[in-house]
Amino acid sequence: MTNIPAYVTEILPHERPPVYVLDGVTHFRVSAVGYCTRQLTLARLGYERMGRPLFLERAGHEGHLHEAAIITDMLADGWDNTTPAHTGGEQAILHLSQPLFRLIGHADLVGNPPESVMRLFPSEMHEHEFYPLLVEIKALSDAQYAKFVSGMWDDFPHYADQLTVAMAALGHTNALYVVKNRNTGEKRLFPVLQPPSDITKIMRKLNLVELLGRKGRLAEPEHKSGSFECMACPYRYACTDENRQYETGIELTALLNPAEMVELGQFVSSYRRAKAAEKQAKEILSPIRAHLEDLLERSGAKKLSYDGMAWQKVKGAKYLPVHRVRAVISPEVLQLIEEQRQDHMMVRDKGE
Ligand code: SF4
Repeated sequence: MTNIPAYVTEILPHERPPVYVLDGVTHFRVSAVGYCTRQLTLARLGYERMGRPLFLERAGHEGHLHEAAIITDMLADGWDNTTPAHTGGEQAILHLSQPLFRLIGHADLVGNPPESVMRLFPSEMHEHEFYPLLVEIKALSDAQYAKFVSGMWDDFPHYADQLTVAMAALGHTNALYVVKNRNTGEKRLFPVLQPPSDITKIMRKLNLVELLGRKGRLAEPEHKSGSFECMACPYRYACTDENRQYETGIELTALLNPAEMVELGQFVSSYRRAKAAEKQAKEILSPIRAHLEDLLERSGAKKLSYDGMAWQKVKGAKYLPVHRVRAVISPEVLQLIEEQRQDHMMVRDKGE
């Protein structure tokens, strides 16, 4: 087994923005590489950050406590030669220098895994030394945990980017991703056998941020208004497109408790999935309906049936032209009629 290399000895400056310029050199925080491109340009240009909604602050704090506890448990499970980031010891610093900028961050854990973890990786890998192993840890809420377990990198592309850059910084082609459910304590270990994102694409994006930053320009907003990303974004005040109603989201955080906010997020994503399925179904059904109608006309029959399905033309509902009704009915009577109408809820979704 190899020794832990020298990159572990530096102390990472905390509480820095996602991008900052230090001694004339632009530094990107590894944990931020998956952020919205506009957010990174805002940080690069030194815009002030505003606080996140309280429930997110609390959730973030909770997450750190859990991550530290997970590391403690892992050390007790037999990891050795480790550099844990949260246990008061040295941090495993990640460095990656590029022509236009530097990347800096820390790994949650770098160390030699016990046999039980080794077994998660294909046996042929055991023959080659791949120590020390990079470990990234996330402690998630119930809903986020379920989402990660089912969707993994597709649903958490910023985690994929973060891990990919961390792997590149260490020169590792594999890693271990540990995810814990903060509510139930359930924990899953995912062996990562290749970087989950495209490092070239990430570097291209960061280059773009740096080049825009040098010109004093901002990137376009990347996320839809009201999205979770925008609600949590410390630069949301700087996305002033009048169609983007961040306030709605912020007001909701005052109305709803964290669990309800998470539930709302799940409803919204289910709604969008259902609407997408509905749209797809319409595209499939539309030519079929036209074909059935054509058959009906060609047959001259009023009704046709096949394989338990029957189709016929029915008269559409009748509507009264409002301008003609107004012409013959007094406003008082019209009001009575209108008062009986049934309101429905309209959902307009720019995020679809
Ligand atoms: S508010 Fe949304 S779109 Fe604007 S910078 Fe933040 S994450 Fe990006």
